[in-house]
Amino acid sequence: MSEETTLTIDGLSVKARKGDTILKAALDHNIYIPHLCYHPELTPFGGCRLCMVKIQGRGLTISCKAPVEEGMTVITEDPAINAIRRIAAELLIANHDARCLECAKNTRCKLQEIAAYIGISDERLGRLQPVVRTLPVDDSNPFFIRDFNRCVLCGICVRTCQEIQMLGAIDFTFRGVDTKIATLGDKPILHSTCVSCGECVVRCPVGALLPKKADTPTRQVNTICPYCGVGCGIKLGVRGNTIVGVQGDVDGPANRGRLCVKGRFGIAEFVHHPDRLTTPMIRKNGRLEEASWDEALDLVASRLRGYTPAEVGVIASAKCTNEENYVIQKFARAVLGTNNIDHCARLCHAPSVAGLVQSFGSGAMTNSIDEISDSTCIFAIGTNTTEAHPIIGLEMIEAVRRGGKLIVANPREIDLVRYADLWLRHSPGTDVALLMGMMRVIVDEGLADSAFINERCEGFEAFTESLKDFDLGFVEQVTRVPRAKIVEAARMLATNGPAAIFYSMGITQHSHGTDNVLAIANLAMITGSVGKPSSGVNPLRGQNNVQGACDMGALPNVYPGYQAVSDPNIRKKFESAWGVSLSPTPGLTLVELMEAAYRKDMKALYIVGENPAISDPDIQHVRQALSRLEFLVVQDIFLTETTEFAHVVLPGASFAEKDGTFTNTERRVQLVRKAIEPIGNSRPDWWIVCQLAHRLGVSGFEFDDASDIMDEIGSLTPSYGGVNYERLSHGGLQWPCPTDDHPGTCILHTRGFVRGKGRFMPLRYTPSVETPDEQYPLILTTGRSLYHFHTGTMTRKVAGLNVIEPGGVVEISPEDASRLGLAQGDRVKISSRRGEVVAGAKVTDVVPSGVVYMDFHFAESAANILTNPVFDPVAKIPEFKVAAVRVEKA
Ligand code: SF4
Ligand code: SF4
Ligand code: SF4
Repeated sequence: MSEETTLTIDGLSVKARKGDTILKAALDHNIYIPHLCYHPELTPFGGCRLCMVKIQGRGLTISCKAPVEEGMTVITEDPAINAIRRIAAELLIANHDARCLECAKNTRCKLQEIAAYIGISDERLGRLQPVVRTLPVDDSNPFFIRDFNRCVLCGICVRTCQEIQMLGAIDFTFRGVDTKIATLGDKPILHSTCVSCGECVVRCPVGALLPKKADTPTRQVNTICPYCGVGCGIKLGVRGNTIVGVQGDVDGPANRGRLCVKGRFGIAEFVHHPDRLTTPMIRKNGRLEEASWDEALDLVASRLRGYTPAEVGVIASAKCTNEENYVIQKFARAVLGTNNIDHCARLCHAPSVAGLVQSFGSGAMTNSIDEISDSTCIFAIGTNTTEAHPIIGLEMIEAVRRGGKLIVANPREIDLVRYADLWLRHSPGTDVALLMGMMRVIVDEGLADSAFINERCEGFEAFTESLKDFDLGFVEQVTRVPRAKIVEAARMLATNGPAAIFYSMGITQHSHGTDNVLAIANLAMITGSVGKPSSGVNPLRGQNNVQGACDMGALPNVYPGYQAVSDPNIRKKFESAWGVSLSPTPGLTLVELMEAAYRKDMKALYIVGENPAISDPDIQHVRQALSRLEFLVVQDIFLTETTEFAHVVLPGASFAEKDGTFTNTERRVQLVRKAIEPIGNSRPDWWIVCQLAHRLGVSGFEFDDASDIMDEIGSLTPSYGGVNYERLSHGGLQWPCPTDDHPGTCILHTRGFVRGKGRFMPLRYTPSVETPDEQYPLILTTGRSLYHFHTGTMTRKVAGLNVIEPGGVVEISPEDASRLGLAQGDRVKISSRRGEVVAGAKVTDVVPSGVVYMDFHFAESAANILTNPVFDPVAKIPEFKVAAVRVEKA
């Protein structure tokens, strides 16, 4: 059956897809029909009646709701239609604030467009006795205003919030002449459930919703959001050398135009913040003083020359581009002669790499973001997706809307729980027990996918043997999840699959993080949920380019493309390409580097774009370690808590000031384009590192530009072999992309696992290292907020984000608060064996009794003063997610 329909519009024969509306068919063929409440991404509303047309033989109808039919003849304009449109438009205009010249939407307003099309006369308008509305303007949100005097009640904002943001923060209220769009209880929008995504603002057809900062750009530059690992495509609006706005890129494969609050409103202000570092600085007499590039680079080169490879280490950056991370690791290995290179993936997804490589042969997300909404069953464990990866959160909720099942496992009642069919509220640190308990049910009830297991996997017998330790009575007691719920979750997952499993740092940041990941891999294999669309094991990467920094070999044991430094053949390949001899010994991990600095074995550190004085566990210890270094270089865009210890500070350029690539969480390599010149005397990180290499007399760093670097990456990294700037300029590529004619890979392990057979791993339950006791009776768990990013270096420079979330609080359950005599907003002291911090108490049911929660973004109440530096023996990730603490009134 043909999917196409032929109809006639104004005498023109046009083709449309079955199911399209007449309005869509007309607009697709550049036939204008006036409309105000229609938006192509939203359910038709039919409220404005401006899109009225006549269907021959039937009469008048609203074209935004009428589907096309074969042979249909449509007339878009005649006297009867025009009369109806004119009345509808005149009523809207009569009720609209007519001071168009004062409106930022002037010349881009749909109502003006319609007025011009229909032709409105003052005489007729006069007869309508225009109403001058004087409704108060809601300017509570720091990023946009709501002016109801300009609202035409098209309902686009309401549908946007319901259908795109899936929140329903606003709705039609006060029906009748007083109808207006309002929040629940007509509160200012800042005090509603609105998450400030701005999606309604960009869709409002008139000037009723307007960004507070709205200069018109003179050019737009397509690039990628510098915040989380979703990798949203953005268009930076630029005027002169200033970013004046950000739009979602509708062609961005990860976001299709949507953005969260950080991407939409949190960029221009940090890029142009007066605190940006604009010149190199050298510490003299205890103070950082401005210096020239030559002076600073000469000093760094001469000091680094004085250390042996074992005495020096480099920390690369998940915020920097692939090209920069490649150059940084090459500098560590080829110039400093050390594999002591690591980055913050150690603190987030090292267990994903370590665990998934053992099970599958590859440590990355197996599937793609655009498959999520078609999932029939999603299992989200240890991920607060709507806050940490907001656009992926939307995709998950869309899957639920389409009928998919959603199981959430999280100690906190996160937003996703509202959409879940089942919520497993397990105790922090008991993931292995929960997952093994579910798998025990799957095996016992004969729900395992035997065909998949027999054909594609190995080690199943030994694994099922280890399930014997996970009797449901034991699992219930350890996890505190009722047995019936564990059974229900197991059945739901096994019978609605293939399942798409998502996890993040709730799984990895444990002293048994690798076991947690292995348990997830087992669960995916036992349910046959790998290598198929809308399924798989999907670790959600935190920072914009943490996937790329790993891919580029900013790790102590592997070169780019996860090629082992200990493999003689691989080493030989890099030695001959780089013209140097390389160390065969894997280097120290991030946590080990700090420990070595504390012991004074590590004498010099070169840190690029990271802030370990806030992001690492037990930061008082980290600060002591940093203070013991003989020489510390920090390269960043702002002064940070870490630069307090630096001997030299080098000013890097922000993402908006350089070309390069980021690789997002779904392995998609995407172009980052220079939109403005570097601020002040800052320089791209790759340029700075290359200058140092020249000064240290090592060749191989004579790159002309970032594209040159990518060509070298491609020549040495099989999974990036087919990635180059010419191809990327037509859109991103998902690795593995080994050759120039390879299209990239959306789904991993489709025919076989990268390692051959998928490997089931037997597991035991190991409790977290610190469990509550009399002295420290509560469990502290930490995480991220929607409104801030990592250590706040960038987001805390954005005034509006600070208005919405000004600082850190500690979430505590009503039961614990009442037991401790604490009330909402009380200042409380939270102490662990490492130290203490003070924060406001937020008494909430979001956390269960016995557990308290803090975001880790805020220096003044730094959660990482409290966290436990014990680490997973395989991945060396610290146990951020479980620390025993005491809470008392400050
Ligand atoms: S800004 Fe986003 S969350 Fe807030 S009302 Fe608009 S669509 Fe809804
Ligand atoms: S605020 Fe804008 S989008 Fe919302 S109903 Fe009014 S005119 Fe339409
Ligand atoms: S922070 Fe993440 S979800 Fe938000 S716009 Fe940026 S990439 Fe997209």
